[in-house]
Amino acid sequence: MFQSTIAGSLPKPAWLAETHRLWPRWAAEGAALAQAKLDATLLWIKAQEDAGLDVVGDGEQSRQHFVHGFLEQVEGIDFEHKVEMGIRNDRYKAMVPQVVAPLRLKARVHASEARFLRAHTTRQTKFTLPGPMTIVDTVADRHYGDRVALAFAFAELLNQEAQALQADGIDVIQFDEPAFNVYLPEAADWGVRALERAVQGLHCTTAVHICYGYGIAANVDWKKTLGQEWRQYERVFPALAASSIDQVSLECIHSRVPPELMALLRGKDVMVGVIDVASDVVETPEEVAATLGQALRFVPREHLIACTNCGMAPMDRAVAQAKLQALAQGAALARERYGT
Ligand code: ZN
Repeated sequence: MFQSTIAGSLPKPAWLAETHRLWPRWAAEGAALAQAKLDATLLWIKAQEDAGLDVVGDGEQSRQHFVHGFLEQVEGIDFEHKVEMGIRNDRYKAMVPQVVAPLRLKARVHASEARFLRAHTTRQTKFTLPGPMTIVDTVADRHYGDRVALAFAFAELLNQEAQALQADGIDVIQFDEPAFNVYLPEAADWGVRALERAVQGLHCTTAVHICYGYGIAANVDWKKTLGQEWRQYERVFPALAASSIDQVSLECIHSRVPPELMALLRGKDVMVGVIDVASDVVETPEEVAATLGQALRFVPREHLIACTNCGMAPMDRAVAQAKLQALAQGAALARERYGT
């Protein structure tokens, strides 16, 4: 009851990559970089355990960005000739690789860090992959000519990698779909269907993370345009409730998401965002417990999990560490308060 976990990414130490950036340059190369990635992973496994989190991740220390990390092992993608593209409905511009031929996995994508994670903790493990719709929104398509066909092509590859992660001993496989909050009718229609393709045949716990993005300026500005109530989840939650996905991670604290929308996820585990990733102010355990208490009005306690609003990749390392502690302590307080 009231387990705690993170959405996915954690800040990279300065000896691994540039800090406070979303697409950071690596600070090493070759074998030294491979070693530095695993060293940083070990550091964050320990930090999550010390904080008291129940489900531990690799902090995405081995990937430069949550989408492009997966694409690096996909054949049919041209990384040499990136093009500038408006993503998330033109909220920001990014240099993205191009899809130029039929897609195929060249090799395992995350074997090294997943097995490393499994080998270095006895706690439950979670591993994140980008969702099909969000990938489609973060590449330039020069081959398929159809977003749905492209999403299903990616979903098939994601399923292959997810099956392998499950065989590596990962307990929870989570797909990140921030695009679900942007393309609302499409998300409820083919977005969820593509996600179902990605989890086909899995027997581990499956999850989807849907947020309003990292705490970067472009997202903070976008949120200001969304009005008094953010009702985006209302469109996609019913489709997710009817799907086979086990857990849904959503943004809550300091957001304008009406908490009653969580009631639309009947039967699912709900990972409630109790840690704001757009603010360096560290939550108190009391605040975290209060946010969980609010969610309890709409989600049965056995289905509630405490989580961060989104990844913490661009944040300050010390702040992120303090927030991990607040997260676990707040979940423990909620257990005391609402557990019986
Ligand atoms: Zn997120």
